[in-house]
Amino acid sequence: METQEGSASKPVIDFHGIDEELIQKMAYDALVWSSLHGLVVGDKSVQRSGKVPGAGMVHAPFALLPVAFPENHWKSACEVAPVFNELIDRVSLDGNFLQDSLSRTKKVDVFTSRLLDIHSKVLEMNKTEDIRLGLHRSDYMLDEQTKLLLHIEINTISSSFPGLSCLVSDLHRSLLKRYGEHLGSDSKRIPSNTTVNRFADALAKAWTEYNNPRAAVMVVVQPEEHNMYDQHWLCAALKEKHNVTAIRKTLAEIDKEGELLPDGTLLVGGQAIAVVYFRTGYAPTDYPSEAEWRARLLMEQSLAIKCPSISYHLAGTKKIQQELAKPNVLERFLENKEDITKLQKCFAGLWSLDDSDIVKRAIERPELFVMKPQREGGGNNIYGDDVKENLLRLQREGNEEDAAYILMQRIFPIVSPMFLVRNGTCHKDHAVSELGVYSAYLRNKDKVIINDQCGYLMRTKVSSSNEGGVAAGFAVLDSMYLT
Ligand code: ADP
Ligand code: MG
Ligand code: MG
Repeated sequence: METQEGSASKPVIDFHGIDEELIQKMAYDALVWSSLHGLVVGDKSVQRSGKVPGAGMVHAPFALLPVAFPENHWKSACEVAPVFNELIDRVSLDGNFLQDSLSRTKKVDVFTSRLLDIHSKVLEMNKTEDIRLGLHRSDYMLDEQTKLLLHIEINTISSSFPGLSCLVSDLHRSLLKRYGEHLGSDSKRIPSNTTVNRFADALAKAWTEYNNPRAAVMVVVQPEEHNMYDQHWLCAALKEKHNVTAIRKTLAEIDKEGELLPDGTLLVGGQAIAVVYFRTGYAPTDYPSEAEWRARLLMEQSLAIKCPSISYHLAGTKKIQQELAKPNVLERFLENKEDITKLQKCFAGLWSLDDSDIVKRAIERPELFVMKPQREGGGNNIYGDDVKENLLRLQREGNEEDAAYILMQRIFPIVSPMFLVRNGTCHKDHAVSELGVYSAYLRNKDKVIINDQCGYLMRTKVSSSNEGGVAAGFAVLDSMYLT
């Protein structure tokens, strides 16, 4: 088995050694800091908190201290980010690859099928997207046994927390500046996190490429959004640094107010749109009626820059991730051998359910696998005995429903005691962490304008929980302390 140097097994910050009084003092300071600096989300217990900014806010759930993370792994995750960007772009251009790889899934998964229909329609239009913008986040876990940093998934639509993640890094830096002497730690070992500005730069540059000074950026949002402040941070940076205006619209509003001019310009409520930035549209529940699907198609047919386009969205599905992990598939999209090796080094085992040997193995040892449908946003995967039961059920039924899923090697990250702060209360628990690396990609025809790593998000969750979503209530926001 391949190994890499570096291990997160020795946290530099010794959580066992910190006395309770100091913890409570730090937690109090952290809560004050969060409230004063906008590290907040809508408070679900307050009725209007998902609709009206400023009505009902609570601090975002966070880890009190950063998690120890090996510097070499952080560096390699940064290095591979532009390669993932390039890969997604190349895959997005291969319409047949996307359609063929998802053709079996299409038969059994209505949601994926609707996305593919939109994709087919724009293929038929023979429309080329000259300007392409990706704001992605690749997620990783550090496997304890092999010490490998393994890729969980890449999010090409609605990557959350570009705003709040930067604030958590700031919060931790501020706590270590104040208490570092007691903790024996140095705030400089928390890497700078500039995601929010880098994403704003990318949106602004895309807007510039579109070249219509009267056009706006449109953030496509859910009708109720408790994570709105994360989005507002990004729009504030866009306005303050670049003087570009962002408007917020739901899919239903876009259906009502949207129109396509003969030249392809997208107007929403009479406002020309240069860039469509999705913070919704990744889950079946985002499309409660035909109106939302009409809106998605309308935007896709327009000349506006979609972040993501339907092709980028599909390129980020778990089925495509699994297809790309098959032997000799990366070679179809990338020329550089070193780049291919870098990607393969972080791929975990991924299999289609038509591989009967692996299905047999997963039925025997379900705890070593995760079963994943084509869904985003957390809370959809199948673990443990449920893997076995579902695989046996699929075998019994013998239909094509197995094409809705992929199987993935289960990764076992190191479990450490951590302090998690939720709803104003700090408690200690055994937890695991997942690193997210943000990246931006912008090109116009042959000109690659941006292809960079942009910053990070660490998410920490109680080790007994399988899923990792912060918004879904499983995890807290965190940052990292390089070791
Ligand atoms: P989603 O798109 O819904 O976020 P993910 O593939 O990221 O789907 O899975 C959700 C969560 O499940 C992850 O954040 C992680 O905590 C956990 N998870 C996913 N894949 C694995 C894996 N192979 N091993 C262990 N945990 C996993
Ligand atoms: Mg995802
Ligand atoms: Mg995920």
